[in-house]
Amino acid sequence: MSALKLSYEFANLGGEFSQPTKIRPLKNPQLASWNPSAAALIDLQQPTDKLIALFNGESVAEGSPVASLYAGHQFGHWVAQLGDGRAAILGQVNHAAQGPWELQVKGCGPTAYSRGADGRAVLRSSIREYLCSEAMQALSIPSTRALALIDSQTPVQRESIETAALVVRMAPTHIRFGNFELFASRNQTEQVKILADYVIDHFYPECRTSHKPYVAFYRAVISKTAQMIAHWQAQGFAHGVMNTDNMSILGLTIDYGPFGFMEAYDPHLICNHSDDQGRYAFDQQPNIGLWNLGCLGNALLSLIGLEEAKAALDSYVEDYYQHYYALMYKKLGIRVAQASDKPLLTDLLNLMSDYKADYSRVFRLLSKPETHSELAAHFANCKQFKHWLSGYQARVGSLSDCTETALAHNPKYLLRNYMAQIAIDKAADGDYSEIDRLLHILQSPFDEHPDAQSYFSTTPDWAKSLRVSCSS
Ligand code: AMP
Ligand code: MG
Repeated sequence: MSALKLSYEFANLGGEFSQPTKIRPLKNPQLASWNPSAAALIDLQQPTDKLIALFNGESVAEGSPVASLYAGHQFGHWVAQLGDGRAAILGQVNHAAQGPWELQVKGCGPTAYSRGADGRAVLRSSIREYLCSEAMQALSIPSTRALALIDSQTPVQRESIETAALVVRMAPTHIRFGNFELFASRNQTEQVKILADYVIDHFYPECRTSHKPYVAFYRAVISKTAQMIAHWQAQGFAHGVMNTDNMSILGLTIDYGPFGFMEAYDPHLICNHSDDQGRYAFDQQPNIGLWNLGCLGNALLSLIGLEEAKAALDSYVEDYYQHYYALMYKKLGIRVAQASDKPLLTDLLNLMSDYKADYSRVFRLLSKPETHSELAAHFANCKQFKHWLSGYQARVGSLSDCTETALAHNPKYLLRNYMAQIAIDKAADGDYSEIDRLLHILQSPFDEHPDAQSYFSTTPDWAKSLRVSCSS
């Protein structure tokens, strides 16, 4: 047994919602990284052998792990049944002060919902998920968390043979839009209600006091999703696979696959190499959020009226823009916006797009007057940029808190693909040190890390052709 005190609220909803599953142990499990800041949320101190054995399925807790059942719209097409094909929910830790945390082992081996696949996750994508979850958290972007990363010598076949790993992730719940869609599509309205009641009672208790709790719940999910996507857009995060089965009912970023942070600014960035049509291109994300919320609304129509659902959905666009612009103005160091700030922002983004300027680097350099001189080079020293910069300086020159505001919203460090790749290459040789180093940097991305200056630079030539696909 571990020091974890698990309870089984989700599993106890019954076999219609999830199926018991076993974690099939990996060979020679090695703890590659442990995240003290997630561990603190559930009062865990050190990783113990017992804990690793539990995560690796070599020992069992009181209750069985389960795989959750869901469906989803993938690239716009309905898929009637999906489910956790490679993740096992261990149970929930009910922390008195920090709320419930459901623990999930991703890469656990086949479940009832693996659809013939191996149930595994390769080391490279596990490192990416592990680091990015924590990078997002530090950027105030709602996300699932990552507690531990376990490497192994179990081979898995992808394009070539790779090794399998486990990510232990945490979220109050991992329920997705797709969980609701599955029951709605089968006309199991009773199950839709049970699921909605479960989510409301545990995670949206304030909706219970509304005279229309289900409408309030749908509105709350819409608002949380709008906020999450506004954060993505402001920090240049492209998720890559915004299928409805990858949309958290809590508005958390979930299921890190071929994601990417914007480097050379291109609003049409497609970070998922398999997304031929660009359905999930960077600038499509807010629209796709709306589309996905429409699917959720459809799935809730046994609980809320069509007109109520439409009215709720109508609030999304305004909600999104309100959050997005507030964040973008703060990136410019402006807390209280005025009408002329919108064209100021748009002009900058257009220039960044024309000159393929590095998105986060430009904003960071813009944050401090003493680094403004470095900026023009990102715009080929063009006249338009110099003109823009003097307009900007005139606008913010009298704001006493401009630098402080901008520095708090413009990270110096992001998880660029090449940084993850360095950690991945070293880990493949059994050296996990870069994972911990990046974890530390990315957990305080607004700080100066004098020993990591090179990670403030743009992608080096060797990494310019890195491609990320869905294969993970
Ligand atoms: P994803 O795109 O990673 O969110 O996965 C989409 C669906 O495929 C989910 O139901 C996953 O559980 C499932 N899946 C992905 N990879 C595997 C795998 N290697 N083995 C079993 N199921 C998988
Ligand atoms: Mg998924």
